[in-house]
Amino acid sequence: FARRLHKTVRKLLPDCEIRFVRSEDGSGKGAAMVTAVAYRLAAQHKARQKILEPLRLSHEQLLKVKERMRMEMEKGLGKETHAEATVKMLPTYVCSTPDGTEKGDFLALDLGGTNFRVLLVRVRNGMRRGVEMHNKIYSIPMDIMQGTGEELFDHIVHCIADFLEYMGMKGISLPLGFTFSFPCHQNNLDEGILLKWTKGFKATGCEGEDVVGLLKEAIHRREEFDLDVVAVVNDTVGTMMTCGYEDPYCEVGLIVGTGSNACYMEEMRNVELVEGDEGRMCVNMEWGAFGDSGCLDDIRTEFDLAVDELSLNPGKQRYEKMISGMYLGEIVRNILMDFTKRGLLFRGRISERLKTRGIFETKFLSQIESDCLALLQVRSILQHLGLESTCDDSIIVKEVCTVVARRAAQLCGAGMAAVVDKIRENRGLDFLKVTVGVDGTLYKLHPHFSNVLHETVKQLSPKCEVTFLQSEDGSGKGAALITAVACRIREAGQR
Ligand code: ADP
Ligand code: MG
Repeated sequence: FARRLHKTVRKLLPDCEIRFVRSEDGSGKGAAMVTAVAYRLAAQHKARQKILEPLRLSHEQLLKVKERMRMEMEKGLGKETHAEATVKMLPTYVCSTPDGTEKGDFLALDLGGTNFRVLLVRVRNGMRRGVEMHNKIYSIPMDIMQGTGEELFDHIVHCIADFLEYMGMKGISLPLGFTFSFPCHQNNLDEGILLKWTKGFKATGCEGEDVVGLLKEAIHRREEFDLDVVAVVNDTVGTMMTCGYEDPYCEVGLIVGTGSNACYMEEMRNVELVEGDEGRMCVNMEWGAFGDSGCLDDIRTEFDLAVDELSLNPGKQRYEKMISGMYLGEIVRNILMDFTKRGLLFRGRISERLKTRGIFETKFLSQIESDCLALLQVRSILQHLGLESTCDDSIIVKEVCTVVARRAAQLCGAGMAAVVDKIRENRGLDFLKVTVGVDGTLYKLHPHFSNVLHETVKQLSPKCEVTFLQSEDGSGKGAALITAVACRIREAGQR
């Protein structure tokens, strides 16, 4: 029988070399083999879940994060506690939102995001109320970002000059708003003393200096034009103002892009660093530094520590490093490396590519998690990264991306819950309706980040009805609007 069977099959398939192997007790041994494979897979699955477990936060953990954020906010606001506070709660001297009567042409600079931009913003009132913008993007080369302050500001002024020429406005002097998205100590709207660089900037001789002074000095060195610097603005504040132009309920600004930060309207009586008890002032929280006192250590994982250690500012901006675009990809890469080292992924083979810092960009998290993407496409993204994966590998990578992005959105939501509840309590309300102006590519482009964030805020502050409004170019438009408001108030004062 066997001989005939072999012969027939070979005859039918002359192009194939077929070997017949006699199994010994297939039904017994085979069952054991199947079980063994299933066992290995289950064990590996369990091992991976155990590693991921600390990244999955419970409702109780998130509530704790919210409470701790609230405590750190109080520390930052208090006169006595401000010096050692990590969440700095910086006064911005922005006290009023646009009322629609602002008008004029303004220049704006946007430094501190991925791109450096110069903008011309035309604000109109009355029937044609609205904002019209022209802008040009300039690159800031790495050696200038990390060179001397003089080089950095000379470069900025060079870009302004180029922009004015490009717009055919050489020699015209306009009021300027400077969006400078780094922690600054302000004693006035038109002054910003840089406390410390973040997000990859490291130019020397700037920390402790007034950036408006540095800008003005560079303008004088060039001797080509003069500018009236009216306001130093944080991008969160710009975002809040931009959305406030459309929605009067907007009293909070949030950024989730390269970094993460928030601002909101605080009662003057609570802003102890500034004299006076009347009215409100926008406070730039600098919430990225939340956790730098160690208060998030119980939820930080070995992967967070690894990312932090190799960053430009180890130990600093711990909350931001769990949330924002500059770091999420790196967290994922560190987890994938750990899985691979333990033989739980990529067949245990760790490639040079996987060991390369920064290869896993946060935009890949968005792509991999995109709902309309088939697993095959996940594989092709990984292949593109030089990572040979099986179908199972793709499923695992996708799960890691989900866990990391979900945690980021939840942590961000816990912080936001603390903010809106504080506003509600400040006003002695049982219920608060408030709008949060949001900017940042991670928030806008990630398929699930915004939903998870909204859900978390809803769960953690049930007494607030929070609407999220995406800002369009908050850091550019916002700086111009703040400048416009300041000019309006200044002119009213002169009259
Ligand atoms: P910035 O915060 O620098 O002003 P963005 O808001 O544009 O600028 O954020 C840029 C960051 O967004 C990048 O650092 C990158 O990590 C992240 N990013 C870029 N594309 C995507 C995407 N498709 N999905 C999620 N994050 C992205
Ligand atoms: Mg930005």
